[in-house]
Amino acid sequence: MNAEIIAVGSELLTPKRLDTNSLYLTDQLNALGVEVVTKSVVGDDRDRLAAAVALAVSRSQILILTGGLGPTEDDITRDAVAQALGRGQTLREEIAAHIKQIFEQRQRKMAEINRRQAYVLDGAEILPNDRGTAPGQWLEHKGAYVVLLPGPPHELEAMFIRQCLPRLQRVAPKLAIRTLVMRVAGMPESDLDQLIAPVYKKFENPATTILAAAGDIQIHLRARSSTGEEASALIEELRRPIEDLLGGKIYSWDGEPIEVIVGRLLRERRETVTVAESCTGGLLSEKITSVPGSSAYFVGGFVTYSNRAKIDWIGVPESIINEYGVVSKETAEALALAARRHTGASYALSVTGVAGPGADDAPKGTVYTGIADESGCTVVHRQFLGDRARVRSFAAQMALDLLRRRLLN
Ligand code: AMP
Ligand code: MG
Repeated sequence: MNAEIIAVGSELLTPKRLDTNSLYLTDQLNALGVEVVTKSVVGDDRDRLAAAVALAVSRSQILILTGGLGPTEDDITRDAVAQALGRGQTLREEIAAHIKQIFEQRQRKMAEINRRQAYVLDGAEILPNDRGTAPGQWLEHKGAYVVLLPGPPHELEAMFIRQCLPRLQRVAPKLAIRTLVMRVAGMPESDLDQLIAPVYKKFENPATTILAAAGDIQIHLRARSSTGEEASALIEELRRPIEDLLGGKIYSWDGEPIEVIVGRLLRERRETVTVAESCTGGLLSEKITSVPGSSAYFVGGFVTYSNRAKIDWIGVPESIINEYGVVSKETAEALALAARRHTGASYALSVTGVAGPGADDAPKGTVYTGIADESGCTVVHRQFLGDRARVRSFAAQMALDLLRRRLLN
């Protein structure tokens, strides 16, 4: 069963207000096994909204509208739905009396325009509003369900839970949904997609979505079936061939970020880490310490941004920087070894590179990442594409992935 959401309100088309109701509704519908296939935002324009409603009911089994149920001229949802579905509206005196009573409780007099909220579409069920004046409406139209809900989020949420949820549970087929979120570090999105698309494109269920941020890719698998076991089995069918292709590049199977995975590995081994960062300027330390309890394994780190800091603070030999350049394999190695020597940590990570933009000796996007441990130091060189933020983010992910691989070997 699929659903469509229309958020009504001209304010939602400005940069000042965001349609958050549809996020809430999508979450609730997904939990019922109902897929949201389209959402749209329509301003307070009766004809445009009527056209959107007509299209939605022609192609979706559930249409939920939010907003535009108030008493003023710009609240046009009832009228637009009436127009689109060719239905009349009837003033219901009991609703008008109820609204009047709400005003009296607040010691105010009901304005005449509030009676507009007492109109109900022919054939609709009324959804009482415990938190405001505008009632919602629920109707069936040629096999589709059309639901009108108020715009204010606290009214909408209460009405959804109390009125819509029980009705939707009755009409939605029993459907189990299982998801798996695999994460991969340090791989460009296009490379990853080229590799696994031939596999996941063969499957419609599970559906695959790839979400990429700089240096971190999430592969979401989402299976639907009548039972949880079947849905899990469908996930397995796709998980295995993806794993065969990506192997050790996958660092997480439940959506956890790499800093959490690395933190757990360090904690299990009672080992510690330090960092000497140049082009990431503290980003790597920030990531590591974003995990609660990271003080158990993160001893602290150095943001050695200038050459002087590298030399004076942790003792990178000046001759190395002079001879090989600050963005070089040799400097990355000297940074990692010096940071480890200074702190006595089990591992030291180092990052030196050119995040750009601007003129530097090495090309923009060049990053060297080092890892030092008791056996010595390894340096990896990568060339990243993208702007400053992206290069820095890639570099931090790459350093964490280097540590993860070392911890697993
Ligand atoms: P309305 O029911 O259209 O009069 O909306 C009343 C108020 O609810 C608006 O002023 C917004 O602040 C809020 N609202 C309406 N629609 C949404 C939405 N889709 N997401 C979040 N807030 C909304
Ligand atoms: Mg509005």
